[in-house]
Amino acid sequence: MCEYATVPPQKQVRLPRSVPLAFGQSIGYHYRKKHPLFDANAMISVRVRCYAELNDRLPPALRQRAFPHHADVGDTVADLVRALELSAEEVDLILVNGTSVGWNELLHDEDAVSLYPVFESFDISTLTRLRRRPLRRPRFVLDVHLGKLANHLRMVGFDTAYNTHAHDADLVKLASEEHRTLLSKDRKLLQNESLLRRYLVRATDPRLQLIEVLRRFDLFNMLQPFTRCIECNTALVQIAKEEVLHRLPQKVRETYNEFQVCTHCDRVYWKGSHYERMREFIEAVKRDGTREIGEARV
Ligand SMILES: [Zn+2]
Repeated sequence: MCEYATVPPQKQVRLPRSVPLAFGQSIGYHYRKKHPLFDANAMISVRVRCYAELNDRLPPALRQRAFPHHADVGDTVADLVRALELSAEEVDLILVNGTSVGWNELLHDEDAVSLYPVFESFDISTLTRLRRRPLRRPRFVLDVHLGKLANHLRMVGFDTAYNTHAHDADLVKLASEEHRTLLSKDRKLLQNESLLRRYLVRATDPRLQLIEVLRRFDLFNMLQPFTRCIECNTALVQIAKEEVLHRLPQKVRETYNEFQVCTHCDRVYWKGSHYERMREFIEAVKRDGTREIGEARV
C-alpha cells in the first residue's frame, strides 16, 4: 500500500515533450519543496522492468528482469528515467501498473514500471505514446518461409532482411545484432530466449500477412513505396535516363523518363505496368488494412 495516501492530488508537472530531462534539478525536488507535507528524506520503492535495447544501458544484473529502484517521494517517471541513465529519446512507452503514462506521472510506493523503447514488438497503438510516432523505422528479418512477405515489406519501404539459405541461428543473430524484429510462422524459432523482438505471423496469404504486420506494428503512416530494391533490400537512388539507356529494352526507352537504380545489385526500376499493379496493390492494402478492426477480417 502507498503510505503517502494523504499527499495532495497529483500536480501536473509540465515537462517539455522533446527534452524532458534537460532540467538541472529533479522535478521531484521542486515538487517536494512546494509541498511540505512530504518528508524530504522519505523514500519509496518501485519495481522497474526495461524492454528490448533499453536493457543495453543497464548494468548486467538488472537486464531482462524486474528490479527494485528506490526513489524520492514526489519523483516522476522522468526522474526515474534519468536516474537509470536512460535517454529520454529512446523511451517511447511507459506503463505504470499496466497503464500508459506521460513523463510527469508521479511515482508511488510499490508501483510496477515498464519502460519500452522507441519501437518494440508490442502493440502500443491504443496507449499513450510519448511522441506522435516512433523515432525510427522498424527493421525486420524474416524466416525462409516468408519470401513473398519480404518482397511486400520491401515494396512499401521497410528494411527487411531475407535470405532463402538462412539458418535459424543466423536469423536470431541478425535480429539481435541489427535490432530487427524477427517475423516467423515458426513458434519454436520465436521461443529463442535471446530474441528481444519477435512476432508470430498468423495469416498464410502474403497480402494478408502484410496487412497483419502493418497493423500489428502500426505502420500504415510510415509506408514509403518504391524506395527500396525488392531483390536485395538496398535503398534506391534516382538515376539519369542517359546513364541506363543502353540497358533498357527499346519500348522502355521510348516510353519512360524516370529511373531508379539499386546501388548494390544494379537493378534498374521504372514506372511500367508492373509498377501500376503494385501501386494498386498498395492502395488496396491501405484501404483494407486501415478499416475498423472487426469490420475487415480481411
Ligand atoms: Zn538491389
